[in-house]
Amino acid sequence: MASCIHLSPQERSELEEIAKIHPIRVTRHVMDLMDKEDPEDPIRKMYLPSTDELDLTGAYDTSGEADNTKAGGLQHKYEPTALLLSTNICAIYCRYCFRKRMVGLPNTEVLSQFDEAITYIEQNPEISNVLISGGDSFMLDTSILAQFLQRLSTIPHLKFIRFGTKTLASLPQRIIEDEELIRLFREHNASGKPRINVVTHINHPREIVPETMEAVSLLNSAGVTVSCQTVLLKGINDDVQVLCQLMNGLVEAGIVPYYLFQCRPVKRVQKSFQISLADGVRLIEEAKGHLAGMAKRFKYALSHPIGKIEIVGLLGSELVFKLHDAKYTEDTGTMFTMDAEEAGGWLPADLSLSKDSVA
Ligand code: SF4
Repeated sequence: MASCIHLSPQERSELEEIAKIHPIRVTRHVMDLMDKEDPEDPIRKMYLPSTDELDLTGAYDTSGEADNTKAGGLQHKYEPTALLLSTNICAIYCRYCFRKRMVGLPNTEVLSQFDEAITYIEQNPEISNVLISGGDSFMLDTSILAQFLQRLSTIPHLKFIRFGTKTLASLPQRIIEDEELIRLFREHNASGKPRINVVTHINHPREIVPETMEAVSLLNSAGVTVSCQTVLLKGINDDVQVLCQLMNGLVEAGIVPYYLFQCRPVKRVQKSFQISLADGVRLIEEAKGHLAGMAKRFKYALSHPIGKIEIVGLLGSELVFKLHDAKYTEDTGTMFTMDAEEAGGWLPADLSLSKDSVA
C-alpha cells in the first residue's frame, strides 16, 4: 500500500500499527477505482485504513453472533435461516466490516466441522434456507462450493441457498474468469435443487463498473438472482445524489436493492463511518423521493441482538422501528418508538421487547 499512496512517516507508522491488528488487503481492481491522492475519496476511505481506526468506541460483536452460534461456524438466529461462516478470507478487507474481529485473522469462528453443521440443519426442519457467508464465500475454490451445494441439496426442507460475496465489487474477475462456477450454478438451478441466490454489498456507484455488470449478467444467466445489502457510511454514501446514483446503478446492473444497513457500532469502525439514525431517515426519505419503485425496494434496517429492525421513519422527534426478523419469532412485527436524540446512531445493546428474552 505504501508504494501506491503518499503517506507521511507518522501516518505510515500509525497505519502499520493498525495493520498489525486488522490486516489490510486491496485488489488491483479496487486500487484502480480509487483516487489514491485524495484522502476523502470514497473508495479509498472504504478500503484503506485511517487513523480513526485507533478509536476503540463500540464493540466487536454488536448483534449477538456468539449467542447464536449452535456449532462451530454455524449460527441460527432467525427461525428459517442458518448462517455458515465458511471462511475468514476476503479479496479485500473493508475498513467498515462488522466481522472485523475475525476477517483475515486467526480465529475459531469459521466452519470446521461441516458434518456437524449439516446434522444441525437436518434436525431443524424449520430452516428453509442457508446463507453461506464469511469472510467471502467466493474466496473458496469452486470445488468446495460444489461440495456445499451437494451436501445441502440432500436436505429436503431447504428451499434456497444464498452465497454472500463482495467479489462482484472487489474482484469480479473471480466470477468472470471461472466458467466452472457458472456451469455449476446453472446445472444446480436447472436440476430443481434449492435455488442459488447471491447476496453482495456495494456501497458507492463508482463500484459498479463494466466488469461488475458482466459478472452479474453471468450469474443471472445461470438463474442466480443477485441482491445487495448496502451499508450506509459516513463520507461514502450519506448523500442524496450518491444514494440515488447507487440504487439506480444497482437496478441497471440487474441487482436487487435489498437492505440499506445502518453501520454498526463496531470498534475501530463507528467513529469513521456511522451517522445518526435520524440523519439516515431524512437522507433516505429525500433520496426515495427521486427514485422509482424498483430502486427503492430496500429496507433501512439495523442488525441488533434482538433481531433485524427496520427503521420505519421519523414521527416528530420520535424514531419509529419495526422488528422485521426477530430472534424470538413471536416478536416479529413488533413496533416501538424512541427519541431520535436518545437513540443517536444505534439502539441500546440491552434493548429487550420480548417477555421470553427478559425472563
Ligand atoms: S468483504 Fe465482507 S466480510 Fe470481507 S471484509 Fe468486506 S465486509 Fe467484511
